[in-house]
Amino acid sequence: MTKALPHTGSYYAASISESTSYAPLTGAHTADVCVIGAGFTGISTALTLAERGYDVRVVEANQVGWGASGRNGGQMIGGISGEQGIAKSLGANSESIIWELRWAGHEIIRERVETYDIQCDLKSGYLDVAIKPRHLRALEADAEALEKHNFPFEYKLLSKQETRDTIGTEAYIGALLNTGNGHLHPLNLCIGEARAAVSRGATIYEQSMVLNIEKNGKPKVVTTQGSISADFVVLAGNAYHLLERKLRGIMFPVNSFIIASEPLSEAVVNEINPQDLAVCDPNYVLEYFRLSADKRFLFGGRCNYSGSDPEVIRRQLMPRMLRIYPQLAGKKFEFAWGGTIGVPINRVPQMGRIADNIFYSQGYSGHGVNVTHLAGQIMADTVAGTLDRFDIFANIEPFTIPGQHLFGKQMVALGMLYYKLQDQW
Ligand SMILES: Cc1cc2nc3c(=O)[nH]c(=O)nc-3n(C[C@H](O)[C@H](O)[C@H](O)COP(=O)(O)OP(=O)(O)OC[C@H]3O[C@@H](n4cnc5c(N)ncnc54)[C@H](O)[C@@H]3O)c2cc1C
Repeated sequence: MTKALPHTGSYYAASISESTSYAPLTGAHTADVCVIGAGFTGISTALTLAERGYDVRVVEANQVGWGASGRNGGQMIGGISGEQGIAKSLGANSESIIWELRWAGHEIIRERVETYDIQCDLKSGYLDVAIKPRHLRALEADAEALEKHNFPFEYKLLSKQETRDTIGTEAYIGALLNTGNGHLHPLNLCIGEARAAVSRGATIYEQSMVLNIEKNGKPKVVTTQGSISADFVVLAGNAYHLLERKLRGIMFPVNSFIIASEPLSEAVVNEINPQDLAVCDPNYVLEYFRLSADKRFLFGGRCNYSGSDPEVIRRQLMPRMLRIYPQLAGKKFEFAWGGTIGVPINRVPQMGRIADNIFYSQGYSGHGVNVTHLAGQIMADTVAGTLDRFDIFANIEPFTIPGQHLFGKQMVALGMLYYKLQDQW
């Protein structure tokens, strides 16, 4: 199947800052680097490479930001999933290395938004909420770590009452407020970064699904109408990767869904989120919410569903949302959509090679907004032969899920079950 797909029916697609219409790949080309996939990983890699003077081409099956990057919760969350696994692999000195990696993506995003004047509603302010006492203990440890590392942004542990006063719900027993994290319009960020990459000399091809990579000698990336022979290829298709099956076999594809309300009145906004914070619970299969720039309430979580019917998504998510915010009963939820997150079993983002000059980066779990930006920089370093940070991830062997490619939807269900069980204790 090579037919290009339009954006999903999300609030983001309906509030796009500019629509993209990069021409499909036709004819035979050569380049320094060919990147497959125009989500955050691919675009971020391309922008970094273009800034460093490489001739880089991005080949996207659908449109810029079509995958998870253009559909996500827009929560700019610090940290990397699977940090324990990374620490174990690194041994001594892991703490300072991981601390730096935790926040690197945020810096890249903030710097790009400013440099390239990207209109993506970037806001600072984030609340990690606790549901159980063990979550509170984890937040206390997080606050201690912030203090120890002289975190340059404001942060504060909140009691149950303070949490209630901050976000107008009784659902949580405490929280950690952190102004180093934040939220943004992910599709507009991705589109803005794509524009920036092109302004620095990169070429993007949309509606161009890569069907094959010829791997004898210099790799050749092939679509129905064209090809690119490149010194290096970077695979950036994440959970939507349709090309190298073995890259999907090393992570669970987990579905997450979002509903977006009509714009809320000032009175309601003042009651439920006057500080305009992004909020996220600590479960593996988590719930997350925030306001958009035009004051819609965006609520994300899981459904027992793997399709894309907005009615089914609304029906399943509304009761979850109303448990937290009964005061939103009767509000119209105008958008409902879903997407697939790539979740490695050991949670560690996966970077590696499938040949000497073909690299991949994928599997960021729910931390992709931040970590994809770090990954783009690491991929660009790797192309230049600087492997320090690439090796941190590449040295961690991923678990393989046998037969994953044969049981697509069943694997999604199994993945959801596995993570739901983790949330039970
Ligand atoms: C509903 C949802 C909510 C989320 N919420 C958050 C959040 O709030 N915060 C956070 O940090 N993370 C969140 N995530 C995770 C985050 O969005 C992802 O980790 C991140 O966007 C992955 O980016 P990517 O570029 O690697 O992949 P994607 O954005 O999925 O991009 C992959 C691209 O590759 C293209 N592609 C695939 N195969 C081919 C091929 N053969 N040829 C050409 N192109 C191809 C696809 O069309 C796609 O555009 C969420 C994810 C989802 C789905």
